[in-house]
Amino acid sequence: MPVPDPNPVRITVIGAGYLGLTHAACMADLGHDVLALDVDQAKIDRMARGEAPFFEPGLEPMLQKSIDSGRLRFTTSYAEAGRFGELHFVCVGTPSAADGAADLSYVHAAVDSLAPHLESRCLIVGKSTVPVGTARALSSRIGQLAPAGSEAELAWNPEFLREGYAIQDSLLPDRLVFGVGSAWAEDLLRSVYAQPLAQGVPCLVMDLETAELVKVAANAFLATKISFVNAMAEVCEAVGADVLPLAAALGHDGRIGSRFLAPGLGFGGGCLPKDIRAFRSTSLRLGLPSLATILGEVDAINMGRRARVVELARSALGGSVAARRVAALGIAFKPDSDDVRDSASLDVCGRLAREGAVVSVHDPVATANAAVVEPSLTYSANLMETVAGADLVLHLTEWQEYRAVDPAALALAVAEPKIIDARCILDPGPWRAAGWSFQAVGRP
Ligand code: NAD
Repeated sequence: MPVPDPNPVRITVIGAGYLGLTHAACMADLGHDVLALDVDQAKIDRMARGEAPFFEPGLEPMLQKSIDSGRLRFTTSYAEAGRFGELHFVCVGTPSAADGAADLSYVHAAVDSLAPHLESRCLIVGKSTVPVGTARALSSRIGQLAPAGSEAELAWNPEFLREGYAIQDSLLPDRLVFGVGSAWAEDLLRSVYAQPLAQGVPCLVMDLETAELVKVAANAFLATKISFVNAMAEVCEAVGADVLPLAAALGHDGRIGSRFLAPGLGFGGGCLPKDIRAFRSTSLRLGLPSLATILGEVDAINMGRRARVVELARSALGGSVAARRVAALGIAFKPDSDDVRDSASLDVCGRLAREGAVVSVHDPVATANAAVVEPSLTYSANLMETVAGADLVLHLTEWQEYRAVDPAALALAVAEPKIIDARCILDPGPWRAAGWSFQAVGRP
């Protein structure tokens, strides 16, 4: 439990989404005075009442506590933010543009709205994931728009949090990266993060460009690791080998490590897919086709996993899924999250529905978000209701609770006891013993 900082900094957090709201609550929890700003008035009203607009374990109690302590407030006013902040964290979205490059319009809008309201010396700190060169361009934009004498400086402090672990990752990250242009900026960031630094979190200080690159390089590496093991799953399927012991044996090599080496349906969500596409676009812009080729193949292998699971579903149902009942376990892009942005699970279900399958979906928290994207599917928070009468069950998002399901009880509810484990997580033994036809990707 952090002890409130004896030297609180007046912080604004601009863009109170998954990253920004978590960051704002954690900064207040560390003892800083925080004003969170978003352009979405309805969202701001909910957050000001202590309601998180998305599911993240532990966030709502922390939000409520920070509001009650008076250290966290909300606004839609850039004039208020400009007056208040000594340090402004920019946390707005950087989605994919149509060509795969990062769409920086939200970042530009945020900086353009803030700059004219800056009154005294302050630090603007980017946390959004951006292409290299963005910070330098923003810096001159701020120089043009900020009133004379406001002395705004720019820094970059990329964020590495994982949804589902966002609070622990924010309070005690693996490392802090500061891209700074002055000792003053570094000192201010060090005082903001005084507590994690005192707890031994490594801090790496570098120039703006390198800090921007650290984030996209980390995501490119993680995506490559996942696609590599999924390519091994394809090899295993081709030769009748088993990707799970293969991945375990690879992971025991200290040079490789076991994390992010889980074969299955591949990655999705609001970060990895868009970040590798944006980095690919940057590589091409820089005339670096080799990196672009690697990232393009990482993406292609990843998207191929979704097509593969659809193909397995087709063949499990005799060649066509039309008019067949498919039950999906999990729809969020990962467990412990209600985020369905570029969810591989939702993509698979959508593809099956478009081939004529009648798809019913269970997820502990993400069905409401999924229903907005794919309204044609049937959603339920009741697992037995979801699988009732199913010709095929797909295990798509590896929520912990699916590991505890009783295969014998489920067998009584379905029309055909057939399951495809697209995440290679379930233990085939009890399923087969309960009469199920059990198939996992990359496994015999
Ligand atoms: P998000 O879509 O959940 O949140 C973005 C927020 O910004 C929204 O609430 C939106 O209303 C607000 N916004 C848009 N334009 C604005 C403006 N002009 N002024 C103020 N607010 C504005 O996105 P996110 O997942 O929080 O991601 C934000 C950034 O952080 C992205 O660059 C992302 O790549 C990066 N990031 C995200 C995560 C994650 O796990 N979600 C982790 C690390 C980095």
